[in-house]
Amino acid sequence: MADALLLTGSKQLVTMAGPAPRRGRALGEIGAIRDGAVLIASGRIVAAGPRARVERHRVARRARRIDLGGRVVTPGLVDAHTHLVFAASRATEYEQRIAGATYEQIAKAGGGILSSVRALRAATDEALAAGARARLARMAAHGTTTVEAKTGYGLDFDNELRTLRLLRKLGRGSPEASGVEIVPTLLAAHVVPPEFRHPGGADEYVDRIVRLILPAAALEGLAEYCDVFVERGAFSVAQARRIFAAGRALGLKPRVHAEQLSRTGGARLAVEVEAASVDHLDFASGADMRSLARSEVACVMLPGCSFHLGLARYAPAQKLIEAGAIVALATDCNPGTSPTLSLPMAMSLACTQMRMTPGEALAACTINAAYSLGRQARIGSVEAGKDADLAVWDVEDYREIPYYFGVNYCVMTLKRGTVISKVC
Ligand SMILES: [Zn+2]
Repeated sequence: MADALLLTGSKQLVTMAGPAPRRGRALGEIGAIRDGAVLIASGRIVAAGPRARVERHRVARRARRIDLGGRVVTPGLVDAHTHLVFAASRATEYEQRIAGATYEQIAKAGGGILSSVRALRAATDEALAAGARARLARMAAHGTTTVEAKTGYGLDFDNELRTLRLLRKLGRGSPEASGVEIVPTLLAAHVVPPEFRHPGGADEYVDRIVRLILPAAALEGLAEYCDVFVERGAFSVAQARRIFAAGRALGLKPRVHAEQLSRTGGARLAVEVEAASVDHLDFASGADMRSLARSEVACVMLPGCSFHLGLARYAPAQKLIEAGAIVALATDCNPGTSPTLSLPMAMSLACTQMRMTPGEALAACTINAAYSLGRQARIGSVEAGKDADLAVWDVEDYREIPYYFGVNYCVMTLKRGTVISKVC
């Protein structure tokens, strides 16, 4: 094959090979191979394993070789929860919070999610695209090859749809493509928009989502998932249930923001509606964890939020893993509560603040994150037949990826066999 590529010289190849998703002790089984090699053709992995064996493959003889010089290779990272498209940072609010302002005071002074809504509505398509494209490039530079991206700063028909169309343009298969695969989620139910902040307004807005926004997104094929922020001051369990039923009827699977700042019953709802994922979970109860462990719902934990907001409480990773739940990690990249693009940083936080092992953290942002996006058969591990999505790290051992916190050691990222990011 003309386009065959053989990667050798990997001191450690972390494959994550095996059944997906991973639960319990299996989460830490990462399938590390010393002196590993990966053979790629037509964007797919043809063979992966010990170098001597891979080199004997007939395709290897005609392949272009790249010697990685003793670096570590992992599956491309999968970021299962981001708010990728936004118009401006909220650094002013960051400083106000450090000075002691509460969330309510900041919101009253014009900050919070609604300030991101105002900024997005006022921004041009070009400005939004440029910002999101730059973020995708930085994510790729940190080893990310697939990103889930939510709307939720438009909060009206035009701007929610506009955000989804932008995500389609930034995904693969268009001239503006970033190289990173984008999984689009409609989060029209992020907060109640300003136009509906009157008694009964939240239900009127939910009506609008169900009757207009969801059907339009589904008709244009713009979203795979729909999401609701179930929280005091956002949406109730009953409102979320309506949105998920409407979404499901249109072919959009649920994802749920739940139990982030208080326990509101979102986790239980996620199990009830067989959601693809339930995200945050900082305030999940023992009963929530037991029922999640018995379900197929992925628990996506977002330690960047607790870190950025300076909160003492993180999601109960150990308890979820022990109970047998499917856990994943994501950045929750957003301008208000987690302005990071780095999954390695999320891994560092998961290790030191949530006591996950480096192996568990890596599995949580590769194979299990891929599962949460319904893509575990195609991405998330380095196995023959899967997409050649890989990250190469300038470290001696995969544990050094979270260990060297706050510093990016990713030197090369491949999506379907194509280099999308590289340090010269
Ligand atoms: Zn979020």
